[in-house]
Amino acid sequence: MQLATAPRWQRCLLCHQTAWLPHCVCRLCLQQLKTLPPPCCTLCAHPLPQDSTVTHCGACILNPPSFDSTIALFEYCNLMKKIVNQMKFEGHCSVAYFLGEQLALHIQHQCQSDWAYIMPVPLHTSRWRTRGFNQAHLIAHALSKRLNIPVNTNCAIKIKKTAALSRHTKNMRYQYIRSAFKVIQRPAQHVAIVDDLMTTGATAHTLAQALKSAGAHRVDVLTPIRVLNMVS
Ligand SMILES: [Zn+2]
Ligand SMILES: [Zn+2]
Repeated sequence: MQLATAPRWQRCLLCHQTAWLPHCVCRLCLQQLKTLPPPCCTLCAHPLPQDSTVTHCGACILNPPSFDSTIALFEYCNLMKKIVNQMKFEGHCSVAYFLGEQLALHIQHQCQSDWAYIMPVPLHTSRWRTRGFNQAHLIAHALSKRLNIPVNTNCAIKIKKTAALSRHTKNMRYQYIRSAFKVIQRPAQHVAIVDDLMTTGATAHTLAQALKSAGAHRVDVLTPIRVLNMVS
């Protein structure tokens, strides 16, 4: 598993040029990846209209999520989809480390990071076994290294085996993921949960709800990628 961030000769996963790179994506391709245009909803990180005077989007006002904020960086554009697929289906775990590092730089510039620890969204053990790694786990480790905050993987487990949620509508996702997690350790008061991408927020909502029922006061979500325009 190559997670080193020291520059070395490697092929960019997007343009396939070989260059002296600190990451699996070259500088030119990194510039092509779309970042979320501010202002964004402070709860779910969905972009708001430019002239917006509110801090929350309509969806969060109607149905407030159980987490308290989301920090996201990239939009799920076609190029991003290409590298996410290389991570998920071709085993390029260096992508997870690249995403974690980029998100950590964003957090260092933009926000306070006073979490007791960060915890990757747990993967059901059977899924972990087939994929060989949990990308949220790798992203959390990259964040931890840059931000100097510990990772906790012992607080919660995934008890419900769920299929990929990509074809579900927003409401179906919320129903489907319900009761998927079990908290097995009393959580700290202020924690951050990490996922590789956020679509509707149903997964983060369910996990944050479980953590708050077990005693957490504030749960923030950290995700490198926000998928937009999900039909509700
Ligand atoms: Zn490139
Ligand atoms: Zn929102």
